[in-house]
Amino acid sequence: GLKGKVAVITGSTSGIGKGIAECLAAEGADIMLNGFGDRSEIADLEKKIATEYGVKVTYSSADMSQPSEIVGMISEAQKKLGNVDILVNNAGIQHVSPVDEFPEDRWDSVIAINLSSAFHSIKAALPFMKDKGWGRIINVASAHGLTASPNKSAYVAAKHGVVGLTKAVALEVATNGITVNAICPGWVLTDLVRAQIEARAKESGRTFEDEKRALVSEKTPSQDFSTPEQIGKLAAFLCSDAANQMTGAPYSVDGGWMAQ
Ligand code: NAD
Repeated sequence: GLKGKVAVITGSTSGIGKGIAECLAAEGADIMLNGFGDRSEIADLEKKIATEYGVKVTYSSADMSQPSEIVGMISEAQKKLGNVDILVNNAGIQHVSPVDEFPEDRWDSVIAINLSSAFHSIKAALPFMKDKGWGRIINVASAHGLTASPNKSAYVAAKHGVVGLTKAVALEVATNGITVNAICPGWVLTDLVRAQIEARAKESGRTFEDEKRALVSEKTPSQDFSTPEQIGKLAAFLCSDAANQMTGAPYSVDGGWMAQ
C-alpha cells in the first residue's frame, strides 16, 4: 500500500484526476487535490475521500498556468502533509481549431497548462523525492502524445512534449529510486470530452448520443470509453513496488487506438 506517502494530483477536482486521487487514497496515500471548481463541492470531495479511505486530504487552488503558484503548491503539500512522494501531473485543457486559425493565447494556455506545468512541478518536487530516495512521477499524457489528429495542434504538441519530458527526467533520476512514467488514455468520458461532443452535436445537428458514438468509433477499435477509475488503478500500480523497474515509458489505455 501507499500508507505514509503523500500524493499531489493536479487537476483532481474532476474527471481523470479525481479518479486517480481516489485510487491513490484507496491505497492509503495522503492527498493534495488541485483544480478549479465550486469551493463547496471541492470541500465535499475532500471530506468524502478523507472519511472513505481514512487519509489526510488537503486542497490547493494553484493555477497550473502560473509557475509561481505551482511551486507554492508543492511547498504547501510538503508543509501540510510532510512530503511530496508522488506527483501526478494531470491538469489539462483542450482547444480545437485549424492551426491557421488557432488563437495565439489559446496556444500559449494549452502549452502552459498541459506541458510547462509538469516541468515546474517536477522541478519543485524532485528535491523532496531525492532526499527520501523514493518517488513516483506520473504524467497524464494522451493518445495524442503518441499520434496526431487534425485541429488539435497545441494539444498534440504539448502531449508529445509530455512524453519526451517523461523520458528525459526518467533518465536523470534512474538511480534515485524515482520512476517517471506517462499514461496515455484514449477517450475517457469527462467534462473535457463532453465539451467536444457537444460542439460536434451543435455543428452537425445530431444528438449528443449519436456524436458520442461517432467520436469513440472514429479512433477506438474497442468502440468504448475508458473510465477515470481504470486510469486511477494504473496510476496506483505504477506507484507500487511491483513497478519499480517501470520507468521512462508511456502506457496506453485506449481500447486499441495505438495498435492501428
Ligand atoms: P477535466 O476537464 O474533467 O479535468 C481537468 C482538470 O484540470 C479539472 O480538475 C480542472 O479544474 C483542472 N484544470 C484545468 N485548468 C487548470 C489550471 N489552469 N490550473 C489547475 N487546474 C486546472 O478533463 P479530464 O479529461 O479529466 O483531463 C485530465 C487530463 O487527462 C488532461 O491532461 C487531459 O488532457 C488528459 N486526457 C484526457 C482524455 C479524455 O478522453 N478525457 C484523454 C487523454 C488525455
